[in-house]
Amino acid sequence: MAFSSWFSRFNSSSSKQHIHRVLHNSSTSSSSSFNHYYRIRHSLLVNEVLNSNKGEKPPLLFSWSSSLLLPLALAVSAGSIALSSQSNFSFCDSRGISVGGKDSTDLDVKGSYKKVSQEFLEELKAICQDNMTMDYDDRYFHGKPQHSFHKAINIPDVVVFPRSEEEVSKIVTSCNKHKKVKALHVEDMDVVVEPGIGWMELNDYLEPYGLFFPLDPGPGATIGGMCATRCSGSLAVRYGTMRDNVINLKIVLANGDIVKTGSRARKSAAGYDLTRLMIGSEGTLGVIAEVTLRLQKIPQYSVVAMCNFPTVKDAADAAIATMLTGIQVSRVELLDEVQIKAINIANGKNLPESPTLMFEFIGTEAYSREQTLIVQNIISDHSGSDFVFADDPKAKKELWKIRKEALWACFAMKPTCEAMIVDVCVPLSQLAETISRSKQEIDASPLECAVIAHAGDGNFHALILFDPNEEEQLREAERLNNLMVHTALSLEGTCTGEHGVGTGKMKYLEKELGIEALRTMKRIKAVLDPNNIMNPGKIIPPHVCI
Ligand SMILES: Cc1cc2nc3c(=O)[nH]c(=O)nc-3n(C[C@H](O)[C@H](O)[C@H](O)COP(=O)(O)OP(=O)(O)OC[C@H]3O[C@@H](n4cnc5c(N)ncnc54)[C@H](O)[C@@H]3O)c2cc1C
Repeated sequence: MAFSSWFSRFNSSSSKQHIHRVLHNSSTSSSSSFNHYYRIRHSLLVNEVLNSNKGEKPPLLFSWSSSLLLPLALAVSAGSIALSSQSNFSFCDSRGISVGGKDSTDLDVKGSYKKVSQEFLEELKAICQDNMTMDYDDRYFHGKPQHSFHKAINIPDVVVFPRSEEEVSKIVTSCNKHKKVKALHVEDMDVVVEPGIGWMELNDYLEPYGLFFPLDPGPGATIGGMCATRCSGSLAVRYGTMRDNVINLKIVLANGDIVKTGSRARKSAAGYDLTRLMIGSEGTLGVIAEVTLRLQKIPQYSVVAMCNFPTVKDAADAAIATMLTGIQVSRVELLDEVQIKAINIANGKNLPESPTLMFEFIGTEAYSREQTLIVQNIISDHSGSDFVFADDPKAKKELWKIRKEALWACFAMKPTCEAMIVDVCVPLSQLAETISRSKQEIDASPLECAVIAHAGDGNFHALILFDPNEEEQLREAERLNNLMVHTALSLEGTCTGEHGVGTGKMKYLEKELGIEALRTMKRIKAVLDPNNIMNPGKIIPPHVCI
């Protein structure tokens, strides 16, 4: 097999200087905002109202120096979660809300602005002292998702940085997101952590013990946020999603109660599964204050393989055929020719710009190699070519890093663009159909659009690149996104495989799940958070009545 030829191709045209230059040039949309994101993202948002006064810059009520605030925020901060002090939980608030016209999926969520009371601010100040801010830029930053076309229609009135569980309980409307590993149980292969720890940080900590946590979403993601979004990533095909890898949670509820959702046993049939209720609740039901995670052994040996195809449909068919053999791949990722082009530009590589599959096989050396050979045959049967593989640790690490940074590669290719990220997931047998229908639309569109799929799970992303200053481009991106979501829904799929609902996907939920499911969600929300203080306005569309 062409190990050395692939390895040299992979390293070939890459002048280090070029890589640096390209990544540096894209820093407006990637690295600088990424750093900023990293720096202050761990925070607790207090959003008294649905605030639409984006243009206003209210005066700073307290004069904190941000240089004092930031280290505190990093050291002791909590998960970013919006809390509202609206006292009137509206069981059905369809005022000012339109769900679009015929066949439309538009949903405008509007709200009225109620001035935050001085009394409330003083209460917060008494609890948080200097660990809060009303600085407009900080509030706007925390109200606008990063690397997302969603705009901050509503921004929080105050951002607080609580320091302890007591503070959390006192203000109720808060969370406790420290970054510590509380207990590692090597023999049990589990770990108890505070929610602010990042998955990458955690894996650095676990490596000397020969263990790792097998979920790999965005590079800056924290365990608390990962639980809240029920995230996954490229390894989910082997290890499952966050739903499958959390053993127990400690939750602070809206009434201040601190609830343990399980024991440390790997299995349990003890009552309602509160752990899974909280996983994916996006901060709407409670604040995750502690997490017990299931760990895995670092594989003894692994092989990474790559191959090319004439079309994305061929690539998707080959991925599905591989899954149907029963081979337990640990990763199978599909990238289209546009994504490979972006990777080449951003990283100074010279990979063939055609639809590509990337595999990872793990186990013993003999087992990994055997799997590699079986899959090589499947690839040839599906018009695949240039099958190459590597087991060199450095090459493998670089390859997955490049794959993980695919979004930033797109920004390097189109530095003035933002990305609208499609995140649909369909039953495995429908993946090729979903991708080829979507690809037809993408090819006919004036917008550039890269496709990446966690192909072994039927989860497919399109990164639609558009100029945010061009209204027409935004509309076209929304049209494409809508189309792909509706294609997935028509094939018994979902509008979000791993990124969650937030506010942007609310409009699809009724079609996907039915009104009864949404009413059930709203009843749960009303019981656990009667004053609607936990991330109000997320997940459940406002027109749902109970
Ligand atoms: C380049 C890139 C690649 C990505 N790849 C993947 C991928 O492969 N798979 C995937 O699933 N996702 C992926 N993502 C998306 C992202 O990484 C995940 O959604 C991740 O789970 C978000 O974690 P976070 O810590 O950033 O959460 P945040 O964005 O901070 O928060 C997400 C939500 O969780 C809530 N929350 C946060 N902390 C708590 C808490 N302690 N208690 C209660 N609620 C809380 C927040 O209020 C918010 O509603 C990617 C993102 C990027 C930028």
